[in-house]
Amino acid sequence: MLVLLYILHHMLEMPHVLVGAAIATAIPNPAISIPLALASHVLLDRIPHWNPHFYTETQKYGQPTPKSTAIAIVDSAAALTAGLFLAARFLPNYGGAISVIAACLASVLSDQIKMPYFFFKQRTGFFKFWTNLERSWQVEASFIPGIITQILISLAALWWILV
Ligand SMILES: [Zn+2]
Repeated sequence: MLVLLYILHHMLEMPHVLVGAAIATAIPNPAISIPLALASHVLLDRIPHWNPHFYTETQKYGQPTPKSTAIAIVDSAAALTAGLFLAARFLPNYGGAISVIAACLASVLSDQIKMPYFFFKQRTGFFKFWTNLERSWQVEASFIPGIITQILISLAALWWILV
């Protein structure tokens, strides 16, 4: 449960994780794929998207609402499952599987850093700085178009991996 809370997010985590997995699948060298996965996070956050409004809710109610938290848990659990599944395809090549998992984690790191801010009331210093920085590069969209962009990104990443 704590692990899931920890992986919660801003853009939904699923597209981030699929793109991370796609990068590691295309580029076997983790010294290249992990930095690229880290960078892909910012790039994807710049594509107009919808996500639960953790920040607004935290300002209003002191923490994200149960509904947003539930969406985030389902999304994170699904993203985690997808990442592990895509990594398992490399077995018995353990190096390959581990670099996929590492790239998946790197792809959502930027969001994970914000979790103490939202869920553990760490709202000063570095966590405040990072949460505001992450907010500054987000490009948000309303629900339907903001979900469609993420489905398209996810499908493109899956196509890249599986086809
Ligand atoms: Zn983000």
